[in-house]
Amino acid sequence: MFYLQKTRKFFEANWLLRRCAATWKSLPDKASFANILRMDDKTLTKLTFPLQDLEKYYVSNVNTENFRIFNPSLDYIQWAELLFKPSKDHEIDYFSSAIRMDHAPLLSQPEVCFIGRSNVGKSCLLKALFSLAPEVEVRVSKTPGHTKKLNFFKVGKRFTMVDMPGYGYRAPQDFSEMVEVYLQERKNLKRTFLLVDGVTGIQEVDNTAVEMLEEFGIPYVLVLTKIDRAPKGLLLKNVLAIQDFVEKQTQRCFPQLFPVSSVEFSGIYLLRCFIAHVTGNLSITES
Ligand code: GDP
Repeated sequence: MFYLQKTRKFFEANWLLRRCAATWKSLPDKASFANILRMDDKTLTKLTFPLQDLEKYYVSNVNTENFRIFNPSLDYIQWAELLFKPSKDHEIDYFSSAIRMDHAPLLSQPEVCFIGRSNVGKSCLLKALFSLAPEVEVRVSKTPGHTKKLNFFKVGKRFTMVDMPGYGYRAPQDFSEMVEVYLQERKNLKRTFLLVDGVTGIQEVDNTAVEMLEEFGIPYVLVLTKIDRAPKGLLLKNVLAIQDFVEKQTQRCFPQLFPVSSVEFSGIYLLRCFIAHVTGNLSITES
């Protein structure tokens, strides 16, 4: 009997160890900012402030008269990351989906949403943002004819992140039935993140999304995806063109662009910190 109990305890302990190891194993090295802080200064800047890294090559044309650049200290970035780390008291998980606005869950915590054309890298970006909580399942539905949904992810009681259907496919119906209604009616929506491909720059379909957000008059931010894939010259050209476009043709867009790579994790830590900030979970004071 004693032997059996001991064996069981041994197997239980072993099972627990294996489970933890599996979790640790599935965390990419770059998921945590603590690992980036151990890297050399050049890599640290490139991964943490990709726009700043690019600005070495050009004279920035961002007009900073009417807004303050979001440039938190490394401490703030590290602190904000805690919000993306799940714990017993802070569960991070998929919550529910909705195909129409009247199916959307009634949630009071601040919300941010992510939109972009199909294939822009939205699912990969959400996975990278949630990489410290690998059990979060970012659902992808790309099958033509398959109904697209708004997917809600709860980050503890702090905020909600909403994955919107990719536009470009069945866009008119999807947009008027749920996306447009959601954007216009959601009271707790704090910021919309509009994703633009770093390789192609702003395309015709993206312009339509910009026009929609401008018309609704809601605050939004442009996120430039897949920056690892664009050769530096092309990336610079796209960054400058977007900054010019934002300055001249938008009213509600935050003038600072957020370049990211979900493969190299560049820009992910700063974006986490910005999300923490716009959802009211991090107030940044100047030192
Ligand atoms: P979605 O349709 O917007 O959800 O796009 P996905 O996230 O599924 O990405 C579309 C394609 O782009 C996939 O083949 C991804 O592997 C690729 N991709 C997404 N993000 C990145 C990135 O940051 N870097 C690179 N190199 N490829 C990416």
